[in-house]
Amino acid sequence: MKIGVVGAGISGLRVARLLEEQGHEVSVFEARQRIGGRIYTTDLGSGAAYEAGGEWLDADQPRIRDLVEKYCGHLESAEQEPALAIYKGEVRQTSELWEEAAEDEERFEHSARALARDLVLPVWKNLGAAKYDGLTLDSFLKQNCESEQGHWWLQANLRSDEGDDLDRIGLLGWLGGYVHYINRENLNRGESEMSAFRVPGGFSAMLEKMQLDLKGTVTLDSVLQRVVQAEDGVELRFENSAERFDRVVLTLPPACVERVVFEPALPVEKRCALEACGMSRAIKIVWRFSQAWWRDRGFCGRLHCDGPLHQLWEGTRGSEPILTAYICGGRAVEWTRLGDPVSAGLYEIAQLFPEAPAFFVDGELHDWINDPYSLGAFSHHAPGFALEHAGNIGTPEGKVHFAGEHTATWVGFIEGALESAERVAAEIGAL
Ligand SMILES: Cc1cc2nc3c(=O)[nH]c(=O)nc-3n(C[C@H](O)[C@H](O)[C@H](O)COP(=O)(O)OP(=O)(O)OC[C@H]3O[C@@H](n4cnc5c(N)ncnc54)[C@H](O)[C@@H]3O)c2cc1C
Repeated sequence: MKIGVVGAGISGLRVARLLEEQGHEVSVFEARQRIGGRIYTTDLGSGAAYEAGGEWLDADQPRIRDLVEKYCGHLESAEQEPALAIYKGEVRQTSELWEEAAEDEERFEHSARALARDLVLPVWKNLGAAKYDGLTLDSFLKQNCESEQGHWWLQANLRSDEGDDLDRIGLLGWLGGYVHYINRENLNRGESEMSAFRVPGGFSAMLEKMQLDLKGTVTLDSVLQRVVQAEDGVELRFENSAERFDRVVLTLPPACVERVVFEPALPVEKRCALEACGMSRAIKIVWRFSQAWWRDRGFCGRLHCDGPLHQLWEGTRGSEPILTAYICGGRAVEWTRLGDPVSAGLYEIAQLFPEAPAFFVDGELHDWINDPYSLGAFSHHAPGFALEHAGNIGTPEGKVHFAGEHTATWVGFIEGALESAERVAAEIGAL
């Protein structure tokens, strides 16, 4: 069959490859002037490379681990410690957290495991768990914390994983993700860390190799505007061109699919699911320094703080030291409205580490919230989404198939984007 894939992010490149292996003739179309979508290793110049989007791999994400091993040879272990927690002016090594915080963490994990243990994937099959679907992760966290420090520490970590404020995250949807977390122990690799690895040399190099592995073309600068289905195929209409296929695969993020016109219109269940799908509000601000001053301060660059920067880590992917701030939720929206977020962020860093500005070279902000081809950082299940909508977001409509991280059980992750590619390749099947 002749198949058109729209979106050259990791799900699009992967599904294209799998479909070619199944004997199909595949063409990929991408709105941007580059491939990779929300995976983007970029450069401030002179070797100051960093990951602007997806960056970390968990220990037990088998699909992405296999791909990295295939294309890059090996994974790079992340330096996790020494890391800092700064709360109300008190600085702690994360290895020596407040005792109360450790107790809250244990209580929270215990409760989450007790609920997740009875769940099955995909999450929308858990009709008996309806009472959790309307609740938020925020309320569940509050129920399980007894100390102020514990609540702050856990919400800072969960907000980082979810990419948004916890009152926007549905409990059942989150528990669906937690099932993967529990399952990872069954794989028994002896590694259970979140954010355990990065891709050596940066993620984009891997995606370029994935593109080179394709027989078909990847056409950039092609913004999909209309999808017209007929008896004998599907027409994809872009701004300046149109092409007909036997089947098409759309890997666009949910809010981008909503901007496409479908003839005939998508069923109301699909439209509601696309609209209700939460997109996390996360941004990165990066600063290049002439030296990695944080090492002299006795930490590896990683910290969580209760100030406006939320979280920092060393983002260096080239030869120049880079510090990355990863800021999520309503706070992230505020940063995108500042005239000079790089200087404002440097000021905040200087409040914690007065020596930092002396080493500052330059920096920039990556605003995924307002990026026209993602309209958010990655998806999450909002309250009520898991049972009402999650089952409809990835279902095929006639000859049109839907992939992308938001259609997977590993919602939000690169692993999920790959999972969705495998599902769609199986849906279409071999020749
Ligand atoms: C700041 C940030 C940090 C993250 N951190 C991590 C992490 O540490 N670990 C992790 O696993 N995941 C992380 N993620 C999530 C991860 O990057 C995504 O889940 C994954 O890259 C999504 O891949 P995808 O192929 O589903 O979507 P995308 O990469 O978004 O691909 C979709 C493609 O469709 C294109 N497109 C959109 N509209 C149109 C149109 N109208 N016509 C044609 N093309 C169009 C887009 O340009 C894009 O290239 C992070 C994301 C962000 C933004």
